[in-house]
Amino acid sequence: MTEAKLKKYAELLVRAGGNVQKGQLVVINVDVNDARFGRMVRDCAYDAGASEVFIIWEDDSSVRERYLRADSSVFDTFPEWTVERFRHFDESGAVYLRITSSDPGLLAGTDPDRRMRAAKAASIATKPHAKLMMDGTLRWSVCAVPSPAWAKTVFPDLTEEQGMERLWESILKGARADGEDPIADWKAHKQSFVKKVEYLNKKQFTSLRLTTGLGTDLTIGLVKNHRWVGGGGKTKDGVETFPNLPTEEVFTMPDRNKANGKVVASMPLAYNGNLIEDIIIEFKDGRVTNYSASKNEESLKNMIEMDEGAHRLGEVALVANSSPISQMGILFYNTLFDENASAHLALGRAYPKNIEGGGEMTTEALTAAGGNDSLIHVDFMFGTADLRVIGIDENGNETVFFDKGEFVF
Ligand code: ZN
Ligand code: ZN
Repeated sequence: MTEAKLKKYAELLVRAGGNVQKGQLVVINVDVNDARFGRMVRDCAYDAGASEVFIIWEDDSSVRERYLRADSSVFDTFPEWTVERFRHFDESGAVYLRITSSDPGLLAGTDPDRRMRAAKAASIATKPHAKLMMDGTLRWSVCAVPSPAWAKTVFPDLTEEQGMERLWESILKGARADGEDPIADWKAHKQSFVKKVEYLNKKQFTSLRLTTGLGTDLTIGLVKNHRWVGGGGKTKDGVETFPNLPTEEVFTMPDRNKANGKVVASMPLAYNGNLIEDIIIEFKDGRVTNYSASKNEESLKNMIEMDEGAHRLGEVALVANSSPISQMGILFYNTLFDENASAHLALGRAYPKNIEGGGEMTTEALTAAGGNDSLIHVDFMFGTADLRVIGIDENGNETVFFDKGEFVF
């Protein structure tokens, strides 16, 4: 990949993704193996006027070794100094930029119990930070870069060099970052969401019925005064951001007590370093009653058993089959990309921005309104080229607004 193309991608993350403002602290999370790109992002952030750029160097390999070799007791605690660091960054009004390149099978063969305990301890300790990330107080953006292990998973038949190049091309294409002026392309992309969001917000469907040829037949109630969101958004201080590069979805808030039926996943789910395959989940009155997977069912169990909210839905998202990622037909084994190729649901925490006034609601008020709360928020994909979505209004009138994998209005 050429230096010039990488520079445009780094600029997209800084200027459109996180929309770094003059005088703002920038915190970058990046793996040591992606140092070159991380430093490029750092330079773009200083060019954009950042007051300081702080890099948190991560190391996937050490994460794996820790799960394999550290003392078992360490997985029940989360260091207070890390919480303190988040608090410091949050209070300083930092913008968080994350660069991911994880091997989807990074944690294969590590103890699921250790992973679950660690995930739980981290979720509990960082809950105040997570709340600020989700309620529109903090700015953040995530993008991906290839790693050899990831490229090998996606393109097993290519050499490392070919695989890395192919994955770079696919990432830039999927993230709409391969054109002459990606920042201008993203401005145009943002416009394409306006019509969908306006239509759906005006309709205020009380429930959605989702069906696919794979066997999904699920009816989900939506909370009253729900808001469909897509194409990035504004933080509370009025600055526009794109939290995810790429983003192709429009999504809203299901009622935590109103999901009935069955959903059959259309893609494997990379969760906590494991690949969960052929997921089937059944719901009654909003709660998971049954679930199965052909591979790594234990991981799915750990995820759903995390807490009460992990048994319920926090997001329903629609993605047109014509999105560039969907059209590439590549399984990325990475949620950032795969969730933007396919309609998905999330188990766990809802986004407060998906309900009118949600940013100002307490957790209790949000729960009373039907919004879900949990330590987790995990998307899994069920969309197919034959997905059909029927919107049902308060009088029981049905409107097919999504058919054969596309919006039809
Ligand atoms: Zn989503
Ligand atoms: Zn989600």
